Amino acid sequence: MTNAVPDTGVAIDSAINPAWTNRAQAQAVARAAVETPDVLVIGGGAAGTTAATPLARKGWRVTLLEKGRHPRFHIGESLLPMNMPILERLGVLEQVRAIGVLKLVADFPNDDGHYNVFSFKRALNAKSDFAFHVKREEFDQMLFEHAREGVHVDQIAFADDGAITVQAGAQRYQPRYLLDASGRDAFIGSKLGIKRRNARHASAAVFSHFRSVRRRECADAGNTSIYRHGHGWAWLIPLRDDVISAGAVCFPDYLKQRKGETEAFLLRTLESVPEIAQRMQGAERVAPVHVTGNYACEYTRMHGRHWSLLGDAYAFVDPMFSSGVFLAMHSAELGANMVDAALRQPAREPRLQRAFEKCFNRGLGEFKWFIYRFTSPTMKHLFANPKDVLQVESAVVSMLAGNVFDSRPVLHRLRLFRAIYALTALGMAPAAFRGWLRRRRQVRVQVQGDTLQPGNP
Ligand SMILES: Cc1cc2nc3c(=O)[nH]c(=O)nc-3n(C[C@H](O)[C@H](O)[C@H](O)COP(=O)(O)OP(=O)(O)OC[C@H]3O[C@@H](n4cnc5c(N)ncnc54)[C@H](O)[C@@H]3O)c2cc1C
Repeated sequence: MTNAVPDTGVAIDSAINPAWTNRAQAQAVARAAVETPDVLVIGGGAAGTTAATPLARKGWRVTLLEKGRHPRFHIGESLLPMNMPILERLGVLEQVRAIGVLKLVADFPNDDGHYNVFSFKRALNAKSDFAFHVKREEFDQMLFEHAREGVHVDQIAFADDGAITVQAGAQRYQPRYLLDASGRDAFIGSKLGIKRRNARHASAAVFSHFRSVRRRECADAGNTSIYRHGHGWAWLIPLRDDVISAGAVCFPDYLKQRKGETEAFLLRTLESVPEIAQRMQGAERVAPVHVTGNYACEYTRMHGRHWSLLGDAYAFVDPMFSSGVFLAMHSAELGANMVDAALRQPAREPRLQRAFEKCFNRGLGEFKWFIYRFTSPTMKHLFANPKDVLQVESAVVSMLAGNVFDSRPVLHRLRLFRAIYALTALGMAPAAFRGWLRRRRQVRVQVQGDTLQPGNP
């Protein structure tokens, strides 16, 4: 096996039966040697590195291509307890502990201006009762380095079955299997036209990093704080070095009102919540303000012959519940197992792909159900007044920890929660109906643009 050194600084600009657009390009491509790894992974973010590592450990020749150069800013800073076993399997848990801020609970606002704490210790069938908040530039670089140094993530090793050709600059690749983990860039999804806006959910976000924001007291200092504002919700995530990630997720029609004055818009929105205004008194912005438009999207397919989509390149709904990195890493582990089996028994590939898709969609569906309803008056009421009847609240805490894939006791109680939700909505029918109408209106509003800025700390 060759030692692994993944490519960095490579943007893949053509794939899947590429039609080379000019003569010079065609000649360069013809001259380049064709590389034939067992597995080609596009994207060195959370999903790509998590998939590459176990596949390389299993002895497959893996090439991981990342267009950016680490460290680079990325949003997605709060991990879930269910990330911890994955980090342990990757062998990086202690490294993450060293760069992370300990997170033991999630907190949500209640009706009397305070907040309720949902401790991960109370989760039903807990597999881990803690998580971390991380600066993504540090976290992703650590995973990426691990992939490079750890276990044969192979840049230039090939096996050619002729089914897929990918080009990166003047280089061509013909992998036996292609994993697209290119995040919301959605490399394959865009090329094949299989990307769709989520028909049930639309939101957009504006966010930045600040210093000297007041943290919660004592044991709650590591909490992700979630607040509701008049047009969506807001987060404060404590990071290292006295930095707080602060952002507002907004209904698209509200975000459209910002008309260029993005920083003032962010501050106005955050400070419309009295407690945030108090915590941010004297705060100093230490990073650019980022805006990201309608990001909730889905793909009509997860696989094709010898390729699959992972992480955000397959689905991203909303940062609510901080589930993105966990879902990306979980899909990557499931995907890596599937690819390992498909490479060993190629005839079983379609069946293995279907099983992977079914399993992943089941857990994703649990998050979606909560996300679609989180800004509704009914959910607001239930989160502000939690009751652990028949361990339903403990199951909701499990969902907040990411445990939504295979724990039957949790899944059964989440069904019960849905029934409680329906009854509560009936009891507050006019408000629930108004909330439903508003959500329906929002999915038709478009906010374009993903304007991530360089230079975050
Ligand atoms: C406002 C907001 C807040 C969020 N907050 C949280 C949070 O608190 N917690 C959480 O868990 N999640 C959060 N998320 C979600 C999280 O950011 C993503 O779900 C997660 O990063 C997905 O990981 P990924 O590996 O699929 O994609 P990414 O991490 O985006 O990685 C994709 C990689 O592919 C590379 N790439 C793209 N195209 C190409 C190409 N053509 N060639 C080569 N390389 C390419 C990119 O440079 C990138 O490094 C948030 C998202 C948003 C929008």
